[in-house]
Amino acid sequence: SVEIEGMSKWFGDFQVLADINLTVKEGEKIVVCGPSGSGKSTMIRCINGLEPFQGGAVRVNGITLSQKSRVLDAVRRNVGMVFQQFNLFPHLTVLENCTLALRWVHKMPRKESEDLAKHYLARVRIPEQAGKYPRQLSGGQQQRVAIARSLCSRPKILLCDEPTSSLDPEMVKEVLETLADLANDGITIICVTHEMGFARRIADRIIFMDQGKIVEEAPPSVFFGNPSEARTKHFLEQIL
Ligand code: ATP
Ligand code: MG
Repeated sequence: SVEIEGMSKWFGDFQVLADINLTVKEGEKIVVCGPSGSGKSTMIRCINGLEPFQGGAVRVNGITLSQKSRVLDAVRRNVGMVFQQFNLFPHLTVLENCTLALRWVHKMPRKESEDLAKHYLARVRIPEQAGKYPRQLSGGQQQRVAIARSLCSRPKILLCDEPTSSLDPEMVKEVLETLADLANDGITIICVTHEMGFARRIADRIIFMDQGKIVEEAPPSVFFGNPSEARTKHFLEQIL
């Protein structure tokens, strides 16, 4: 679970997040949307401690977040992250990209780590790409490697920040299918995306952010059918 209580964050004088309150129960799927600069990435990055915040509190699976390395390690053990840029190591094969953290952080023996990596590569439907290098793959395949790599640490929570926005249109679908498929597995997902078809399909709740605040929070039927805020309506008119 993720519990965010009154979280505020400043970059210097600029308040990027203002009194964010959000509770995500185990297994829930949350989609976060909102205009550019509204603080979506910053909020996601705060949840796994990639960014410090100044006000409020965040608990991840019961652990109260701080910038202490012991706390960050404990939190990140439960949290996987998928970025817009896939952040794969170019000089390592697909399999090595997946096993790296298992072997060096989790101290898992090579064979065991490779078996686990192959399991998740099959899960994202690219088992045949294990021996290739990232540059030999399409963008969609690279993003699926990145998803498999985060799954290898068996996170309870998967944070995604616009996982399809750097992909060519024909590859968006395969990555969204992969995520929708995982959504059925009971993993908690918090995903920043403007793919509203996907949101409608997998989200238990959709969060709309504007200027550092959560402006609206509703299940898809309400969010699309009858949003309560004018800003949400305006945003939906622009993107749908
Ligand atoms: P986008 O849809 O474009 O990805 P976003 O909602 O993810 O936008 P953020 O990246 O969280 O927005 O940024 C929110 C605001 O904080 C923006 O105004 C941005 O310029 C500012 N910001 C982000 N990172 C920093 C930083 N490291 N230092 C100063 N300001 C920052
Ligand atoms: Mg962003």
